[in-house]
Amino acid sequence: FQLIHHLMEMNIFASMTQLLDEGVIQGVCQRLGITIQTDKKERHAPVHTAPLGKPKAQAPPPQPLSNIKSRAPVVTFMGHVDHGKTSLLDAIRQTKVAAGEAGGITQHIGAYTVVKDGRSITFIDTPGHEAFTAMRARGASITDIVVLVVAADDGVMPQTIEAINHARNAKVPIIVAINKIDLPGANPLRVKSQLQEIGLVPEEYGGDTIFCEVSAIKKIGIDNLLDMILLQAEILELKANYEGNAKARVIESQIEKGRGPTATVIVQSGRLKVGDIVLCGIYYGKVRALIDDTGKNIKEAFPSMPVKVLGLNGAPLPGEELVVEKDEKKVKEIVQERIEALKKDREASLTPKVTLENIFQAIEEGQKKTLNIVLKADVQGSLEALIDQLKKISSQKVDLDIIHSGVGSISESDILLAKAAGGLVIGFNTKTDSAAAALAKREGVQIKLFSVIYELVDQVKEAMSGLLEPEL
Ligand code: GDP
Repeated sequence: FQLIHHLMEMNIFASMTQLLDEGVIQGVCQRLGITIQTDKKERHAPVHTAPLGKPKAQAPPPQPLSNIKSRAPVVTFMGHVDHGKTSLLDAIRQTKVAAGEAGGITQHIGAYTVVKDGRSITFIDTPGHEAFTAMRARGASITDIVVLVVAADDGVMPQTIEAINHARNAKVPIIVAINKIDLPGANPLRVKSQLQEIGLVPEEYGGDTIFCEVSAIKKIGIDNLLDMILLQAEILELKANYEGNAKARVIESQIEKGRGPTATVIVQSGRLKVGDIVLCGIYYGKVRALIDDTGKNIKEAFPSMPVKVLGLNGAPLPGEELVVEKDEKKVKEIVQERIEALKKDREASLTPKVTLENIFQAIEEGQKKTLNIVLKADVQGSLEALIDQLKKISSQKVDLDIIHSGVGSISESDILLAKAAGGLVIGFNTKTDSAAAALAKREGVQIKLFSVIYELVDQVKEAMSGLLEPEL
């Protein structure tokens, strides 16, 4: 604001994000007593307003704009089991192979790219929200668009709602694909009105959600679905730098016979090349080969491209970031530090970070102002009663956000969702799947179980006013 004030005195009415001429910057710096150096080599690049008190010479070098180009959207399919996610992914891939682009053989590397009218779309090949949320729990956001698959004969089901909550939580736009429209029992209108009730309003009813009607089996509407994905991508204006050292995210990894550890990554920015020294989680190596989704060896990979990387000294976890580094010695040091940090984390992660008892501490440390909970109950009736009562709790200090609720036992997916949102899981008259209990322990997610409604509500109320005593 001081900067804007000085500019106003110079008769320049600038906004926070406006680019300024070099002359103006020199003028304002003189007023502020800051000496600046200009790098003549980069005169062609726009001169950004430097933050107050920081001479321009310290700012990162501007990226030449010509290398920032639009990139393909990365798409994940989600929805209820058996609604046709896998079939749709297959149908899309087959259309591509039929078009003769892939040279016949496609390899499963965990993701693939389809070209439609000269524009690419990358699909993550493992449908469902488990993979999506597992990545988010590691802070990775790879997916640009979620395609929510709903079977036209079955309609909205519990996992449909779960998927919507996952996408919303990650702030990823949703395209609805109503599948199985070939079936005699198909009722797309019913699906639309069900989804409208939970806030996904089709454009024809005045909303902004794109709906497509498809049949994976009869290959109806596939082209239109691809067009709609490209339309949504256009709205998102997805861009990336196509030059410089690559940054990528792991989507899957394995140890392969004869190949050693391999990791499929999606490049997020820059150019990943054979011969690059890469660092990924606690592993590193020199890229020995890059294999694309058609099984071809390629020399380099660009943004949004899925590619299998050979040459790492171990299999990294999905969601981890892969970066290119110049100096192998530095890479080894970083890896060593990470291994040390991981050891410490392992000891610490046995105690959940966010609990009903320490929510206030968590707020102070992490500046969190919302208590995020996943709520599971035995029957719909008690779930509704609970939501009703919990929504009535008012606290000036903390907001309550029920990020997901459902009927049934507490599953791994519930734990991952709570983890991704930095929250906890509350169960009423229900139990925890054994895999979920193990995961909660590993990921440090608190599970609180209750069998009396008022006890549950009281504890949440007390937690939100900071009155709950730590558990012994
Ligand atoms: P996912 O669990 O969501 O991945 O579902 P799948 O792709 O495995 O499909 C579940 C079942 O629905 C399979 O038996 C498919 O053959 C069938 N199916 C999928 N899409 C369609 C469709 O468009 N029409 C019909 N009639 N059946 C379909």
